[in-house]
Amino acid sequence: MDELTIFIGGHWRHGSGNVMHSHFPADGSVNATLHAASLDDLKEAITAAERAWREPGWRNMLPHLRAKILHKVADIIESRIDELAQLQSRDNGKPLAETHGLVMSAAGCARYFAAACELLEGELPTPRQADLLTLSRYEPLGVVAAITPWNSPIASEMQKVAPAIAAGNAVILKPAEATPLMALELARIFEQAGLPAGLLSVLPGKGSVIGDALARHPLVRKISFTGGTSTGRRLAHVAAEKLIPASLELGGKSPTIVLEDADIEQAARGICYGIFSSGGQACIAGSRLFVHENVYPQLMTRLLELARGLRIGHPFDDGTHIGPLINEKHRDSVLEYVELAKREGGRVLCGGEIPADPALAAGSYFQPTIIEGLTNGARACQEEIFGPVLVAISFRDDEQLIREANDSVYGLAAGIWTRDSGRALRLSDRLEAGTVWINTYKVFSISTPFGGFKQSGLGREKGIQGLKGWMQQKSIYLATGNSVNHWCD
Ligand code: ADP
Repeated sequence: MDELTIFIGGHWRHGSGNVMHSHFPADGSVNATLHAASLDDLKEAITAAERAWREPGWRNMLPHLRAKILHKVADIIESRIDELAQLQSRDNGKPLAETHGLVMSAAGCARYFAAACELLEGELPTPRQADLLTLSRYEPLGVVAAITPWNSPIASEMQKVAPAIAAGNAVILKPAEATPLMALELARIFEQAGLPAGLLSVLPGKGSVIGDALARHPLVRKISFTGGTSTGRRLAHVAAEKLIPASLELGGKSPTIVLEDADIEQAARGICYGIFSSGGQACIAGSRLFVHENVYPQLMTRLLELARGLRIGHPFDDGTHIGPLINEKHRDSVLEYVELAKREGGRVLCGGEIPADPALAAGSYFQPTIIEGLTNGARACQEEIFGPVLVAISFRDDEQLIREANDSVYGLAAGIWTRDSGRALRLSDRLEAGTVWINTYKVFSISTPFGGFKQSGLGREKGIQGLKGWMQQKSIYLATGNSVNHWCD
């Protein structure tokens, strides 16, 4: 059992807060023990960050040199893919095949923002007045906070740290309680890549203590958060009080829609992946299925075959589709939702239980579950379960479909399966969702902005807009003539 140090203001040492553990969700064993950051550690990290981002060496560093650090980060990640994927799987139980993909996406993210910071240009607006030149340029914000969840640490952490660093800020990263390992490894990688001391600190600790104090600290000038809607709302209040920007990537209850002309095999496979990969522990999980009544029996038959064939197993075993959920407490809350769905009139078509296999008894596993017979107003159709639970509803016409698909406090994503791309585009106009996938689901591109409508969030990550979200714009007016202001004559 390793006892880990944490990264505070450019130094590796034990935090002065409580002891905390990272557990392997497959068997509950302890991966690592560490001392969390205390409020004093937080102050120290912020003081170091404030000094580091103002350093002329960093402030004036040419973009291609800043990019070089991010490329080095990507090189290191690419040279350690298997090891990092294992670390991520140990921390949160996701199957290796998935964490491999996440590690690769983190490397790609670092490269994208390396390129973006080199290509970022200010603007030269055309002033309406003569004898005036105006420039508008982007500057860093200063010390910024990144607060991340446990479901995809390496991806969500890189998605915040890479653009924040590319933009010239200093970042304090507060990983989720359950998954501190990857954030600490990222700190090592950034350090090894030559990031000057103080520009990245990683402070594991309790959200309600360290996360809250980080967000509230007067020197922190942006909060970037991914996690649950209730925590996001709390942080939005903090940001409003301080008048600082907040980027919030929150929950979802995303509809995935099968029209009557869909390719059933393609749709069934895509839906299966969209809800059951990561054991459904994804904000974008396609957890509400709407199927046109003409193809409902056909689609459901195939989907059930696929779901019943999924292999639940150890995250390190080849061929595992679904690993354990993050911990028993979360697994119990998923089970409780299934019980609630039954009380609400739902019929469990497959799964719905903790697997009986004794080989899985030590882990927090749950069966892939499909429920029908509920109306969209049921709690199981409205609340985010964050587990492998799909609710299926049939629909008759587009009006009913749009009304029900949009009848959710969330608006993160949606999926449409059809051979008619014109109709898919017309429907996508009417869906209240930050991302709409057509004939695919849960695929990402780092250059495409991501974020939610309604209570799924505020702001966008990824893309050039994602980089600018870590900057502030300054406009400069330069008089090019010799005119004198006569107001005070
Ligand atoms: P989840 O439900 O996905 O665990 P949370 O919103 O509880 O989502 O947690 C996401 C991140 O937010 C974690 O790093 C957690 O420690 C942090 N967090 C939780 N509560 C607070 C808070 N009051 N202030 C700041 N960060 C918090």
